[in-house]
Amino acid sequence: MTSTLSPIINQTLVLKFGGTSVGTADAMRQVVSIIKIEKQQWKNIVVVTSALSGVTDTLLKMASYLTADQSGILEESANDLIRRHDEIAKSLIYDEVLFQSAIQEVNEIIKQVLNLCQAISVLGESTPRVMDTIASAGERMCVRLLAAAIQTAGIPAEVVEATRLIVTDDHYTDAHPDLAKSKLMTCEVLTPILAKGIVPVITGFIASTKNGNITTLGRGGSDYSAALIGAALPADDVWIYTDVNGVMTADPQLVPDAATVPVCSYREIAELAYYGAKVLHPKTIRPVIEAGIGLRVCNTFNPSHPGTRLVAELNARDGVIKAITTVRGLQLVTLEGRGMLGVPGVAARTFDTVAKLGTSVPLITQASSEQSICFAVPVATVNRVLQMLTTAFAHEIESRDIDRVWATEEVGIVSVVGEGMRATPGIAGRIFTALGENEVNVIAIAQGSSEVSISLVIKADSIQKAIRVLHYLIQPPNPAT
Ligand code: ASP
Ligand code: MG
Repeated sequence: MTSTLSPIINQTLVLKFGGTSVGTADAMRQVVSIIKIEKQQWKNIVVVTSALSGVTDTLLKMASYLTADQSGILEESANDLIRRHDEIAKSLIYDEVLFQSAIQEVNEIIKQVLNLCQAISVLGESTPRVMDTIASAGERMCVRLLAAAIQTAGIPAEVVEATRLIVTDDHYTDAHPDLAKSKLMTCEVLTPILAKGIVPVITGFIASTKNGNITTLGRGGSDYSAALIGAALPADDVWIYTDVNGVMTADPQLVPDAATVPVCSYREIAELAYYGAKVLHPKTIRPVIEAGIGLRVCNTFNPSHPGTRLVAELNARDGVIKAITTVRGLQLVTLEGRGMLGVPGVAARTFDTVAKLGTSVPLITQASSEQSICFAVPVATVNRVLQMLTTAFAHEIESRDIDRVWATEEVGIVSVVGEGMRATPGIAGRIFTALGENEVNVIAIAQGSSEVSISLVIKADSIQKAIRVLHYLIQPPNPAT
């Protein structure tokens, strides 16, 4: 038997494009060219896209114009959205029939949005369910343009709304997918499309309840959509296209010589995503790891750059400290008193109280003397947190078991992230030496037992300096030998 030589070497690739990757005609042209190139390398290409940049924000703003005298603004925003989509369509969709049908559908979607906004304005209030239907319009419009642009470039493509693929609970605006059902539905819809050599162009971000109501997976959720679809098929690889060269060692606006992290473990990216590196939505990681699928973050505007590869397990040569990341705008709240020693339940009551406010707590520390508990909360919530704690512990405060509940001035968390720190003694020493030599004072420290990151609480006005000092500790990974 003779085997035919085929240029196709791989099976299934999911390409996900973020808002800036489809936000202008030039950007979308670039996206089409990436798809064209990858289509020659892979048997199946699946495309997932966000809305054009800024569109989801505009839609949600439109939904909040409640009073009649704001109807002018509503129309203006609607026209703006039509204009943006129209402009891209004109420059990418040469085929008259494809152009007309895409534009007509965009207009139809905008009309639905306007109707919903008017209904909200009549009722004087909205519901999360209506907000999701309105928010979904961005991705629904974008797929029409992108699919037509891909077809114009000679590649068969088909619009697929993810409401047919991903089924969720009815937790509108942040819905949770039913993985088993979504897998079934995704395979059922996509397999025949892929078998015909067609590229499905799928709305990120949106899904539906089992009754068919539109839900969304939370802001920035289209990465998650791509991961769910990749895991369901399953794909071999999921590539998340954004507008930077992958995960960076620090925010390039703060550290000019920030560089791409070439290889990152799932645990590292989880820390980075949590502590403010907005490149990858944290929820994206799980379904992809569990399905053993490759994940890569890369740049639409620099497609030959390898970006960042996400791996389950690191090699020793992949580097020790990977990145420095930061969360600003926090204050440390401290509950202290000698009477707290050995009293069970103080921590539970403290965090229960904070949780009731719906405030998330990015960092907690408690020394073994148990005479204080200290945790960080966003500045905007501090007064409420102090009030609630004072009330919750009124009895202990009166009996002097708790001496005081107080908050520091504004601070930020600077985290040093790297899974290799676990196997490398002396990292904490190097961190504190570097900060000490540069006169940066550390107010509190936390290190999770996973040892993937060390977090330092630092006064707001020293954060910039701390990041730069710590960034020097990152050494380029050793080249493969
Ligand atoms: N368009 C949605 C948002 O802006 C989802 C996404 O971009 O990932 O949140
Ligand atoms: Mg995003």
